[in-house]
Amino acid sequence: HRIISAAAAMDDEALEASIRPKRLAEYLGQQAVREQMAIYIEAAKRRGGALDHTLIFGPPGLGKTTLSHVIANELGVNVRSTSGPVLERAGDLAALLTNLEAHDVLFVDEIHRLSPVVEEVLYPAMEDFQIDIMIGEGPAARSIKLDLPPFTLIGATTRAGLLTGPLRDRFGIIQRLEFYSVDELAAIVRRAARIIGVPCDVDGAMEIARRSRGTPRIANRLLRRVRDYAEVRGDGRVDHATARAATDMLKVDAQGFDDLDRRLLGTIIENFDGGPVGVESLAAALSEDRGTLEDVVEPYLIQQGYLIRTARGRMASAKAWRHLGLTPPPRQAA
Ligand code: ATP
Repeated sequence: HRIISAAAAMDDEALEASIRPKRLAEYLGQQAVREQMAIYIEAAKRRGGALDHTLIFGPPGLGKTTLSHVIANELGVNVRSTSGPVLERAGDLAALLTNLEAHDVLFVDEIHRLSPVVEEVLYPAMEDFQIDIMIGEGPAARSIKLDLPPFTLIGATTRAGLLTGPLRDRFGIIQRLEFYSVDELAAIVRRAARIIGVPCDVDGAMEIARRSRGTPRIANRLLRRVRDYAEVRGDGRVDHATARAATDMLKVDAQGFDDLDRRLLGTIIENFDGGPVGVESLAAALSEDRGTLEDVVEPYLIQQGYLIRTARGRMASAKAWRHLGLTPPPRQAA
């Protein structure tokens, strides 16, 4: 057997799994969420009961799936994972629920995409740990009640507003994940680099962090691409210069914006005089799906102050004009 570095021996997926935090202490950033969850988890354990149903929302890649696994780990229970669109029939959900052990976590990603019939089954399951299932067909059909073990439903969604009211009301704990600061992302990058055995200095980690759109999933992906670049063009070390060169090559700019970010801002400015423009017109002009714009692209641009959401549509801020090398127009008073 030859000895090869951990990083070289694993593909992206295996690397991803190895750096996924397992405990709350390894889950960096999101301080308020972490502090609250630590208390709720401890309280549930002391009571010897299941943790309340928990809804986690926030843009993709901020760690919703990771957090739900961390919660299950800290509770010392199993986690079963599924997602809204996968659960097509009521029976799919019933099968999952009846296989749970007491206090287990059922993780449902994209919970806003549950079909109405499945959602109906979920209500009594969440509330009373019971489900009604139909047996038989035709006139002889009848429904029987089944008791479920007490369990914790953890639902994840990009926006809490996408859930129906009755479903949202059944969550006792609601957590919103925020974009990560550059310092938090740099800590995440350094931790990941350590685990996969890539030498990465502070400046290299900071440069990757600045270009990661506030998102750990992007930070980890950029780290792997910078590592590739450093191995081929450099001496394998991730530092400021390799981080910069590799991310430039990926067309991720100094602000962390990618091609779609710049196209969105450029389209508002060039095609719609800076806005306001409705999201549908914008999606059509970009040939992109409206949901992708709203869930993936816009939140970071809004948080960073490049995009403004008004009642009449989206507007590019003065910062956006300047970012694209343009002079913002003087704004008339509304
Ligand atoms: P989606 O909702 O699209 O599934 P997500 O928000 O669930 O996205 P995850 O898959 O949980 O995102 O996180 C992406 C990756 O980022 C994880 O594999 C993990 O390594 C890393 N990560 C996420 N959050 C943290 C964190 N708080 N600390 C360290 N690493 C993190």
